[in-house]
Amino acid sequence: MKGTITTIQRMSVHDGAGIRSTLFLKGCNLRCRWCHNPETWSGRVQLQQSAGRCIGCGSCVKTCAASALALAPERIRIDRKVCTVCGACVEACPSGALSLVGEHIEPCEALRRVKRDMPFFRQTGGGVTVSGGEPLLQMEFLTEFLALCRREGIVTAVESNLSVEWRCVETLLPLVDQWMCDFKVFDDTLHRAMTGVGNGPIRENLEKLIGSGAKVVVRTPVVPGVNDNETEIGNICRMLQRFGNRLQGYELLRFHTLGFDKFAALGLENPMAGTPELTKKCFESLRDFARTILETTK
Ligand code: SF4
Ligand code: SF4
Repeated sequence: MKGTITTIQRMSVHDGAGIRSTLFLKGCNLRCRWCHNPETWSGRVQLQQSAGRCIGCGSCVKTCAASALALAPERIRIDRKVCTVCGACVEACPSGALSLVGEHIEPCEALRRVKRDMPFFRQTGGGVTVSGGEPLLQMEFLTEFLALCRREGIVTAVESNLSVEWRCVETLLPLVDQWMCDFKVFDDTLHRAMTGVGNGPIRENLEKLIGSGAKVVVRTPVVPGVNDNETEIGNICRMLQRFGNRLQGYELLRFHTLGFDKFAALGLENPMAGTPELTKKCFESLRDFARTILETTK
């Protein structure tokens, strides 16, 4: 049994306590318009291109047995309907303009790779974080990988959008030390428009998860023109207030444009194209606002 991952990011300091290795699983059931990891949307391995690297030699076009490629003025045109993702063009490309994103991997191989950083985990109180995409879409792989980490004494964290069946979350409870769960938008209609799903099941799962005694940090990406206002952030904070000290933490994440190039590389339309970064002033003001509301409950 194998899982499909994009990468294992080593030495991460943003995905939980201490130094961590973060395993990104492929496949997501949401389509957040501000996503900066669109390579995790599809659960399959994909062909991607860095257009700036292409020297126009045409080797890839000649190599492709499926006739999926054509030379265009600024980049290679990929017909993704006929591409079989065989990887032959990647081998043929002399400039590294083409690459495959995604890898099938067994849980024991994932464990072998993360164990390279065991000394850092021990020294810093870090461990392994599984992110995505939505990692709970690959339950078989995820359960086995986390069980192997447990056996090795590696501290585990999981990032989830919680838009999944509760029985999946419940299955993982004994294997996860720390949960990081997004609550993106309070208004249900806006949430549906921005992510593709309503937030009702997410709220229910969050309530059950915190009620179970699990350690949970809730996070909200603050996105210009979506939820960068006191009404949205205030409503989320007031919803979280009733959890009191049972909630381990609440964090705002600042929207950035670092993932924009990935959309073109994968042949996807970027729904947020042209959107500026969230200003530091706006972000800090909302962070202080959230802190003020949540501190009144402690
Ligand atoms: S991955 Fe294979 S099928 Fe797809 S474009 Fe490259 S050579 Fe053609
Ligand atoms: S083989 Fe690489 S460099 Fe040559 S045309 Fe194809 S993508 Fe461009």
